[in-house]
Order: sequence, then structure tokens, then C-alpha cells
Amino acid sequence: MSDQPVLEVRDLSVAYGYGPDAARAVSEVTFSLGRSKVLGVAGESGSGKSTLVYGLTRLLRAPGVITGGDVLFHVPGENTHTVDVLSAGEEEIQRLRWAHVSIVLQSALSALNPVRRIGREIDEVLRVHRSEMGKAERRARAEELLALVGLPADRLKRFPHELSGGQRQRVMIALALALSPELIVMDEPTTALDVVTQREIVSELYELRQKLGFAMIFITHDLSLLVELADEIMVMYAGRIVERAPALELYRAPRHPYTLGLMESFPPLHGERVEMTGIPGSPPDLRDLPAGCAFAPRCAYAMDKCQTENPALSAIEGGHRSVACWLHAKGHSAPVELSRRFVPAGGEL
Ligand code: ADP
Ligand code: MG
Repeated sequence: MSDQPVLEVRDLSVAYGYGPDAARAVSEVTFSLGRSKVLGVAGESGSGKSTLVYGLTRLLRAPGVITGGDVLFHVPGENTHTVDVLSAGEEEIQRLRWAHVSIVLQSALSALNPVRRIGREIDEVLRVHRSEMGKAERRARAEELLALVGLPADRLKRFPHELSGGQRQRVMIALALALSPELIVMDEPTTALDVVTQREIVSELYELRQKLGFAMIFITHDLSLLVELADEIMVMYAGRIVERAPALELYRAPRHPYTLGLMESFPPLHGERVEMTGIPGSPPDLRDLPAGCAFAPRCAYAMDKCQTENPALSAIEGGHRSVACWLHAKGHSAPVELSRRFVPAGGEL
């Protein structure tokens, strides 16, 4: 059973609003996440990343509606069972969220209660969800959690405003780890932080995952943050997955022109500075998606077919990666090597 995934998402679609004016924020997203694996999700702002998180964790609020799909969470351990997330009752979802899945949302930096000391915040979570723990045990666990995220125990006595942004984010991660979840979902957890702190936190997350073995979905608009953290990367555009590949392969050879554009939008973690070009144009109106590929109007490689037919996400190169792009369809002179302007970390890829 150890190769059973922790999470399976099939054809998940989410819209905001009903009828012809609905914005199709997530369309037919399918993926599965293995135990202790890190999946990076990248895409420009507005590509549906947060909506995907809300959809698969049942945090979606009106006018958001799930218009199709399945989300299965396979709870491991002695009491192994599968939770059908989209149809489970509220009580089961609450249990799942606390005991097995931790979610750190985009607004996390302001999520700490300003009038509560950090120690009290952590203690509350343990008191409510680990009722077998005594006070001293909770205190020891709180110290242990802070140590895990690289904070000294004296921070337990501090209020959130007495901490830097990076320290507050570490506290959020400590809270996410408090109940030893199997899956942690992080939606742009570091976006509000400076670049150096972001990278410190990402490398600490990597070490924590090595040590504790949780699976993680890490969402960012900055693809360069993922190369050292993620096992696999999914790239989203206009609510769809347009490319999925093992992280290093995605970096070595992006297959979707949008992925290439994203790579050229952010500086690499290490290495020479190059001029960042970004992607010309802007994402499409999700209430009125084009008939063909949604990226075609911005794509330097677009062909006639791209204007009229939307390519499905299809396996390429033996099936360990996939792309939704006509450049790689059978009958075309594929695989196309897209030009690269920077070399990621290590340089020797
Ligand atoms: P990302 O996290 O990738 O920046 P989001 O999931 O937040 O993207 O948003 C995807 C799209 O969904 C947005 O472009 C927006 O058009 C739409 N959207 C998000 N939230 C709402 C909402 N509350 N009401 C209507 N539309 C929304
Ligand atoms: Mg978002």
C-alpha cells in the first residue's frame, strides 16, 4: 500500500457564478500526489491556483461552485480509509483538515491572532486536537515545533507584531506541522516576504519534508522557487494544467511555451543574472475563454490549429511527463526544443 497516493484529484472543475457569465477558474484538473512527495504548482496570478486549493480542500465559498470532478484523500496508517472529499459531511471534513491535511493560505501572514502570544496559539491547537496531552507535554511540543522551524523557544512569549514577516511565516509552518499531517498545502506562503527570506523558508521546508515525510502541494507564481523543493511541477494557465513534469526535467526542457515564458519571468535561484522578459499580453477572460488554446493569443509558436482546437493534456516522452500543446502532438515535427535563456541551479542540468 505504500505506493498508494495520498491524494487523487480527477477532472476537478470550479466556476465562480452560474450560467454563461460564470468564470471557469479551474477546468478538468487531474493529478495524484504520492506519499511524501512535493508537488509544485506554478502559474501567473489569476490562473486558478488558489481556486484549485479551495476546491480540493472544500474551502470554496460562494459564488464559487464545484462543477465537476472527484477528490479522494487516502488516509494511511492502521485505520486506513479513503475520504471522498467532495461528498463527505462537514464533520468528516473538519477531522480530515485537522488530523491529516494542513492548509496555509495566501493570507497567512495576517492570520495569527494579534492579541495572542505565539505559545498560546500553538497550545490552543494542541489542547483542542490532542486532548490526551497534558500542559507540560503541550509546552514541550510547542518548543519542539519552534525548533523545527528554526525559532528559539523564547518566541513563544512573543506577540505576532513582535516578530518579523519571516518569523511569522515560520510560526505558521510550525502550526501546520503541529498535528503531524500527511499533507500540507501551501498557497504562496512566502510571496509577501523578501527574496532571501523566501528562499531560506523554502529550503527549510525541503529539510522538514525530508525529516518528517509529509507530502506537500506548494503553490507559487514564481517557478524558480520550485526547482529545489518540488519533485514534480504542474503549470497552470487559465484554470488548466498545461504542463506537468518532474521538476528537473521541466527546468531542463520546458515543453509548453507558457512554461518557458514563466521561467523567463523570474530570475533563477543561483547563477548569472539575465534580463527577465516576462510574457507579453495578459491572461484571458475566464468568462469567455477562446475556442482554441487559451494561451494562443500570447504564444510565439501558435499555429492555425491552436486558434480553433484546445489541446488536451497528453503524455509525452514515454509518459512520465505531459503537456497540453499542439507543438507536441503526433504528426507534428515534435519534440520541439524551446530555447532557454538561463540555466537553473547547479548549471550542469
Ligand atoms: P491565482 O491563485 O492563480 O492567482 P485564483 O484562483 O485566485 O488565481 O483566481 C482565478 C480566477 O478566478 C481569477 O482570475 C478570477 O477571475 C476568478 N475569481 C477568483 N475569486 C473569485 C470570486 N470570489 N468571485 C469571482 N471570481 C473569482
Ligand atoms: Mg492565489
